[in-house]
Amino acid sequence: MSTNIQAVKGTQDILPKDSYKIRTVEQVIAEIAHNYGYCEIRTPVFEYTDLFSRSVGDTTDVVQKEMYTFEDKGGRSITLRPEGTAGAMRSFLEHGLFNEPMPQKVYYFTSCYRYEKPQAGRLREFHQFGVECFGTQSASADAEIIALANEIFDFFGIQNLRLELNSIGCPDCRAEYHKALHSYFESKKDALCNTCLGRLERNPMRILDCKSSVCSEIAKDAPKVIDYICDDCKSHFETVKKHLDSMNINYIVNPTIVRGLDYYTRTVFEFVSDQIGAQGTVCGGGRYDGLAQELGGASTPSLGFAMGMERLMLILQAQSIELPTPNKCDLYIATTDEQSSLVASRIAKDLRSEGLFVTTDIVGRSVKAQMKYANKIGAAFTTVLGEDEIKSGKSKLKNMESGEVQEIEVDKIVDDFSSIAIQTIVSSLSDDSFEGMDINALLGGII
Ligand code: ATP
Ligand code: MG
Repeated sequence: MSTNIQAVKGTQDILPKDSYKIRTVEQVIAEIAHNYGYCEIRTPVFEYTDLFSRSVGDTTDVVQKEMYTFEDKGGRSITLRPEGTAGAMRSFLEHGLFNEPMPQKVYYFTSCYRYEKPQAGRLREFHQFGVECFGTQSASADAEIIALANEIFDFFGIQNLRLELNSIGCPDCRAEYHKALHSYFESKKDALCNTCLGRLERNPMRILDCKSSVCSEIAKDAPKVIDYICDDCKSHFETVKKHLDSMNINYIVNPTIVRGLDYYTRTVFEFVSDQIGAQGTVCGGGRYDGLAQELGGASTPSLGFAMGMERLMLILQAQSIELPTPNKCDLYIATTDEQSSLVASRIAKDLRSEGLFVTTDIVGRSVKAQMKYANKIGAAFTTVLGEDEIKSGKSKLKNMESGEVQEIEVDKIVDDFSSIAIQTIVSSLSDDSFEGMDINALLGGII
């Protein structure tokens, strides 16, 4: 390149050779979310900074260190969303979705922005698939969203993922726990990092989530929240586990999970892989019963999770899970001059509106070069429409795989080729469904 303009550190381009994989994964996930009763919500990339400091919590790593915050030209403090829950909850409250039948179940695919140290599985612009279920305190809802995440991993045949589960209680029982944590960390005060010293007074639980190696070593022996939760929270947690057992979903209780965002209450969970390096958490979520009130709404017990799309793709890659490749070009129409190019444009347009992938020359190449190109793009059939073919009204259709050639009438090419293509597509469909995963059935044949 003559300029030195490059993508910003911590961001990545998704090139055509990979974008179809993400598109397929997103389509599958959207379909599964739909089966669980979720509808898509889209919210803005940026919000007022207050939304995140009030919801994510101003003692969290995200708010203290990672947000992309700037003042806009009107002097407002704006932040690029570091996560999706806060925006979805804001939207739920602002548009009175609580007047709709409850619970309201929404999902989204969003880009998120966090100023972190870029490394494998950790970017500054990354993507999440998230779900939020607003308006239920039942433990069966906790198990249901876990089942949804689990279904996604199962569908792709992902192995060796660990579901780790914990309960971090409600504000009532947490008060006791904060006291216990405070006195534990107070005795280790000299070793804590500066950020954690501040957290000690304001929110000692956040120290458990500190990424500094010294603090996380100290945190290992800290009192465990699960030993402090009240009877209600305990019985909620037991019921979540019973539902998971009933659905045959395996989990382990990990009493050290607290999650990095302040709004969580009761159930928290993570799906963790050991195959993608240090950033192994591919999905994290839990309940956030207090968030709606925190943002000025009425009490709305809710829950959700977010799945890191880049980490999910890393796992698919690590486990060599192939995704069906997109349809290749059905027909390449080669042309020789302006007249044939005019006819080819019309035929191509008509066949495309029949749902076929048709390519014709828009570069001005020689017929030989056009055929070379048709080969490169893997066209299933080719035909040459030259002066002679236009005159005689007949052209040759070549099946590029078998080499078989048949005559086709130029006037009838749209109808005739449509039926030939349908037969070819139907006979190749079975190749796209592979072990444990019938993408075509799930997507109703979209791909
Ligand atoms: P981590 O433990 O990696 O810091 P987190 O607890 O900050 O994650 P959440 O805020 O719960 O993560 O986000 C949900 C999911 O989004 C994570 O489990 C992860 O898969 C993904 N994720 C979070 N931060 C990043 C990032 N910087 N780059 C890529 N994916 C990320
Ligand atoms: Mg983080």
